[in-house]
Amino acid sequence: RAKRSGGNRVQFYSAKMNDETLHRLEMERYLRKALEKRELFLCYQPIVDITTGKIVGNEALIRWRHPKLGLVRPDEFISLAEETGLIHEIGRWVLETACKQTKKWQALGNQQLSIFVNVSAAQFQHESFINDVKRALAQSQLSPDCLHLELTENSMLRNLHHSIQVMKELQRIGVGIAIDDFGSGYASFSYLKNLPANILKIDRSFIKQIHTNSSDIAIVKAMITMGHGLGMKIVAEGVETDEHLQLLKMLRCHYVQGYALYRPATAEELSAHITVGKP
Ligand code: C2E
Ligand code: MG
Ligand code: MG
Ligand code: MG
Repeated sequence: RAKRSGGNRVQFYSAKMNDETLHRLEMERYLRKALEKRELFLCYQPIVDITTGKIVGNEALIRWRHPKLGLVRPDEFISLAEETGLIHEIGRWVLETACKQTKKWQALGNQQLSIFVNVSAAQFQHESFINDVKRALAQSQLSPDCLHLELTENSMLRNLHHSIQVMKELQRIGVGIAIDDFGSGYASFSYLKNLPANILKIDRSFIKQIHTNSSDIAIVKAMITMGHGLGMKIVAEGVETDEHLQLLKMLRCHYVQGYALYRPATAEELSAHITVGKP
């Protein structure tokens, strides 16, 4: 009896696995078509100067709207894009689209507006990456110092020596480097010391309970102090409430991003705010 139910369980798992494999294959087939079918689009989420309340830049966040699957979030397809190599084409499209949109917004008045573009590990490690960045800048005519690339600790650690070379070359042409989800990965202080980065984005898991958890306050405070000491700018991610905002102001955090300020929105939805600021 026990054996039989054990057998059933195996069957159940393998049926489930087949389902997952099928789903994956289907997703992969759809994703290959997504660019040419214009199913990908970008949302933008402002990054705000905590002292003036002004928008200093936007983070580009990719979205995929598929006729059958509906809206697919990046956490569900970026890893698939990496595994299939589609990330290079998709990543190029993100860079070009985001730089062009930013140039358009700048022309409406905010000349210094920046764009923050997420770059995944495989994309960053690829030999064509620096050229992809240069091409996006040339095509859009965006000034390199208005572009910031967001890298995670883990994506840089994968091949640290090469990563540092690429980061240095990007900085040489004027592009900024932000460390995304800072504190949630495996980078130690000795790595951080050697990383040519200008911005630290504190992971939102540290912000969430900052108003009630004294350890989180202590950690965020230490990160901000360290950032100041290293001459880096600090962005707090996932700022959801006014309490978060007040605390971060007290801790002298430079920039904030989160639902308390702006939610990610399409370029059209955001345009009014970008040009005139928050009402
Ligand atoms: P991320 O770069 O850390 O982006 C922040 C995520 O937090 C976004 O999710 C954003 O919508 C969400 N968020 C913003 N404010 C708040 C808040 O106040 N509270 C909460 N709970 N969440 C907030 P999203 O857009 O689903 O993106 C997820 C991840 O997918 C990103 O994390 C990034 O790692 C990746 N991603 C997004 N766009 C791209 C892209 O164009 N290329 C690559 N390679 N990765 C991307
Ligand atoms: Mg990011
Ligand atoms: Mg992040
Ligand atoms: Mg993230």
